[in-house]
Amino acid sequence: MTGRSFTAGTFLWLAGAALHGQSTPARDVLRQLVEIDTTPAFGCTKAAEAMAARLRAAGFADSDVILAGARPEKQNLVVRFRGSGEAKPILLIAHLDEVDAPREGWDAGLDPFRLTERGGYFYGRGVGDVKHGVAALVYNFLRLRAEGFAPRRDLVVALTADEETGGSANGVSWLMRNHRDWIDAEYCLNLDAGGGQIEKGRRLRMTVQTGEKSNMSFRVEAKSQGGHSSLPVKDNAIYRLAAGLTRIAALQFPFRFNETTRAYFERIAAAEGGESAADLKAVSQEPPDLDAAARLAESSPYYNSILRTTCVATRMEGGHANNALPQSAGAVINCRVFPGDSAAFVRETLVQALADRELAVSPAGANPLAPASPMLPELMGAVERIAAEMWPGLPVYPVMDPWASDSLTLRRAGVPTFGVNGAFGELDLGNVHGANERIPVQSFDEGVEFTYRLLKALAGR
Ligand SMILES: [Zn+2]
Repeated sequence: MTGRSFTAGTFLWLAGAALHGQSTPARDVLRQLVEIDTTPAFGCTKAAEAMAARLRAAGFADSDVILAGARPEKQNLVVRFRGSGEAKPILLIAHLDEVDAPREGWDAGLDPFRLTERGGYFYGRGVGDVKHGVAALVYNFLRLRAEGFAPRRDLVVALTADEETGGSANGVSWLMRNHRDWIDAEYCLNLDAGGGQIEKGRRLRMTVQTGEKSNMSFRVEAKSQGGHSSLPVKDNAIYRLAAGLTRIAALQFPFRFNETTRAYFERIAAAEGGESAADLKAVSQEPPDLDAAARLAESSPYYNSILRTTCVATRMEGGHANNALPQSAGAVINCRVFPGDSAAFVRETLVQALADRELAVSPAGANPLAPASPMLPELMGAVERIAAEMWPGLPVYPVMDPWASDSLTLRRAGVPTFGVNGAFGELDLGNVHGANERIPVQSFDEGVEFTYRLLKALAGR
């Protein structure tokens, strides 16, 4: 949809400020989701069933509303909005699970499992991560159905389990392994990434996430003879490990660039200026200015993280008694791998930096490595157009995140995946995963409306 048809939903969105304390159909969906505990111990099935019931009641065929998953309490919901088949389907994902929510630490009067509106915010576990996105998808399927929307391609929503905990019940992995045909698509939009950023009530930017770094850990271990601490010898596992880690501290991986990070640097230089604007512009060029990259990496941990693979020591332990020489010492090095760097390259770079063949390096867990997705003109164009309608003048950036989500699984399987979300989050992340998790009420309403316009733009005529 490119026009400004003045539908009831548009009206509700425009009148958001006047809706303080009131309910809307989309807010009702969010309220129900928050009131259903989907922390790891409880699982997602109750929430999946509740959303399935709403969709069936709205006329979706039973065969298009599927509940399935790795375990009875870890069901995923897959819903198909049938189109005319003129283009391949679009998959839309958001996870149903949320991190644990101990009541301690929440302000008086707030309950993690009750949606509370206070001072312009919705509070409750999952409102930011990412039940607002689940509500936007479910509500818009209901709304589009009620309006008689006839898409030119199928839209498939998958609401999934265990994004936060990973493992064998992770819904996206489980669906890809067992029922890829249910969710196969030309591309996927993940509402758990991307989106707008807001600071002190001011909208800063909208982002579309096209890539993520993978998370990969290694264990580094030193051994030594041990003995009585009154008779120290040179061979000491703790010193050996410490010396190696000091060399890791100085390790810098080579700079890397891709289509998204180049476009990001170029647009941020143009839109935000500031003293680093010249360097930002210089790294967006072909070939990039590596001295400028070094200055940016030095100036900001964030710029550093999107310019290269990083590895950092995150844990260590060693020895076994105050009065004994150590027999072993170990540390965990956590790496965030730039798309395109291989696991072997990362490991070999660490081994070279440690420069001590007595230090054993072994794998200690990893996400799948996945390529970045291309900047899809159809999607970028639609997001830019809708953002210009809803928030005139707001810059839109493609971004690569230095962390990882379910999108990696899909990208690895060859489904280009984009973090897209119309809800503006605060730069401090709105206490996501912590106490007093919150989202501005207006952000929620805008996110719902943005998703509506985006679905019509991508699947309408
Ligand atoms: Zn999330």
